[in-house]
Amino acid sequence: METTAAQPKGRLVVFTGAGLSADSGIPTFRDADGLWEKHNINDVCNILTWKMKRDVVHRFYSERRKAMADATPNAAHAQIAAWQRRYATTIITQNVDDLLERAGCTSVIHVHGRLWEMQCLACGHVWTVRAAWTADDRCPRCSSRKGVKPNVVFFNEQAPLYRAMFKTFKEAGPDDVLVVIGTSGEVLPIGAYAQMYFRCRILNNLEPPKVISMAFPGVAALDPDQFDHVVWGRAAETTDSLDRLVVSYLGEGSAQ
Ligand code: NAD
Ligand code: ZN
Repeated sequence: METTAAQPKGRLVVFTGAGLSADSGIPTFRDADGLWEKHNINDVCNILTWKMKRDVVHRFYSERRKAMADATPNAAHAQIAAWQRRYATTIITQNVDDLLERAGCTSVIHVHGRLWEMQCLACGHVWTVRAAWTADDRCPRCSSRKGVKPNVVFFNEQAPLYRAMFKTFKEAGPDDVLVVIGTSGEVLPIGAYAQMYFRCRILNNLEPPKVISMAFPGVAALDPDQFDHVVWGRAAETTDSLDRLVVSYLGEGSAQ
C-alpha cells in the first residue's frame, strides 16, 4: 500500500536579510566591508534627502542592479525554495534582490522593495527595469524625471508590506516555526518579534553580534537568547543544520 507523509501541523515562516545573499557575492550593508562603509545613507537611501543627488542615487542602484544580475542564488536560497515545496511556507525578506525568486521561491514578501523595479512618485506608476537608470531618464507614464526612484524603501519612507509581515506574524499558531537567516536586526527587530509571536524560533547568522546593549538599542539589536536554536556560520554552508532543525519540528513534509 502506498504511504504518504502526514501533513505537518505547523507552517514555516522564513525571514531573511542581506546575509542570505552575501554568499552569492552581494555585499551586506552593515558588516565591516558593507555598503554603508563606502556610501552615505543620506545620499542614497533617505526619502527626505535623496533628490539632492539624484545622479548618485541612480548610479548607486544601477550598480546594485548589475551586481544582482551577475549573482547566482546560493544553497541557502535553494534550501528555502525546497522548504516552500515541502511545507506551507511564507517567505519574508528585507532583501531587494531577486535571488529567492531565481532559486524557485514564489510569493516572496519583499518588505523593503524590489531592486528590479522603478516607481514614479509623481504618478504612482511602478515598472520593471533590468538595465541601468540615469537621472535623465523619464517615467514612461507621466514623463517625470525628478519623481522617479528605485522601488526600494528608503529610510523615513513608508513600508506598505509591513502590514502583510505583521499579519503573518500575528496569525502564527503554536506549531509554526520561524527561521531567521542573515539579518543584524537593526532595521527590523526580528528577535523581539520572534519572541512575541512564535514558540519555535531558529536563527542563522554569520557570527554572534559584537555588542549587545540594552542601553543603546540598535547597537546590536538581535540577541541570540531570543531564539531557541542558533546556528552560526555562512548561510550557504549551514543549510543541512537548519534543515535538520526544521524537520525536527515539522517532519519531512510533502510536496505542496
Ligand atoms: P545587515 O547588513 O544589517 O546585516 C547582515 C547580517 O547578515 C549580519 O548579522 C551578518 O552577521 C549576517 N551575515 C553576513 N554574512 C553572512 C553569511 N554569509 N551567512 C549568514 N549571515 C551572514 O542586513 P539586514 O539586517 O538585512 O538589513 C539591511 C537592509 O539593507 C535591509 O533592509 C535590506 O533592504 C538592505 N540590503 C539588501 C541587500 C540585498 O538585497 N541583498 C543587501 C544589502 C542591504
Ligand atoms: Zn510618472
